Amino acid sequence: MEITLLGTGGMMPLKNRFLTSLYAEHEGGAVLIDCGEGTQVAFGQHGMKLSRLEAMCFTHRHADHVAGLPGLLLSLGNTGRTEPLPIYCGKSCADTVRHLLAVTGGLPFEVTVEVLPEREAAEIRLPQMDPLFRITTLPLSHSVPCIGYRIELGKKPEFQPDRARALDIPVQFWKRLHAGETVTLEDGRTITSDAVTGQPRKPLVITYTTDTLPIPSIAEFAKGSDLFICEGMYGDPEKKASLNEKRHMLMQDACRLAKEAGAARLWLTHFSPAEKHPQDYEKELHALFPDTVIPQDGMHITLK
Ligand SMILES: [Zn+2]
Ligand SMILES: [Zn+2]
Repeated sequence: MEITLLGTGGMMPLKNRFLTSLYAEHEGGAVLIDCGEGTQVAFGQHGMKLSRLEAMCFTHRHADHVAGLPGLLLSLGNTGRTEPLPIYCGKSCADTVRHLLAVTGGLPFEVTVEVLPEREAAEIRLPQMDPLFRITTLPLSHSVPCIGYRIELGKKPEFQPDRARALDIPVQFWKRLHAGETVTLEDGRTITSDAVTGQPRKPLVITYTTDTLPIPSIAEFAKGSDLFICEGMYGDPEKKASLNEKRHMLMQDACRLAKEAGAARLWLTHFSPAEKHPQDYEKELHALFPDTVIPQDGMHITLK
């Protein structure tokens, strides 16, 4: 799975920092989470292909997460797309999305708004994507209803050729058995997949939570993440009272959540425009959670 953080800013785009937006691609299909003003420019800058988008998800209705939608859809229309595009978001965000759709003046493809529950967890299955690719949600705690996303990519158990050979299974059946199928051989024997595959493997997990207080359920939601992407508006602890009021968190709060979740790595995002040099906090953050990254826009990782 290819993961790119297209932007790392909150509130408004800056010359060197676009608004937070996550691009996740698997086998040529991609999902975009959040699309603030300028996201389509970031798309081009980081070499992403709009045409690969299979779905979009929004965390909440604030402009820094949704205002880039009309421009991005118009550009998508210019790629010659005709396949429908589903947009997933909570009910209050759905109203905003519909208003934004009205200003596109008609698109050459259908956009469907798929409403997610805002107060309880939900699961999204994308029919266009690999069935092993699934997304679950978590209600966050922000000034308006807000949703966190967890992307899981299941891994097939390893195929064990030695066991297949010992059972005298012809090679032409191996691929189907590895894919989980049960096959009937020419000699009449029925072989199940688990006869020639190993233990189930842990899926790849990417969690994205932004615009929220550091509520304990985030640590549970992000459990075992290979990559946990979380907001860190400020690194200055003196901002804590104002963050509590606006329902955001400190970079240090994100580090504590990452530690509790047992995440393999943390990427911070949604930096305040007033936080000019978030990397100044690196040493302090590494003491809390060593695998913290303070990314620049376009931060990319291939997870296998
Ligand atoms: Zn925001
Ligand atoms: Zn917000």
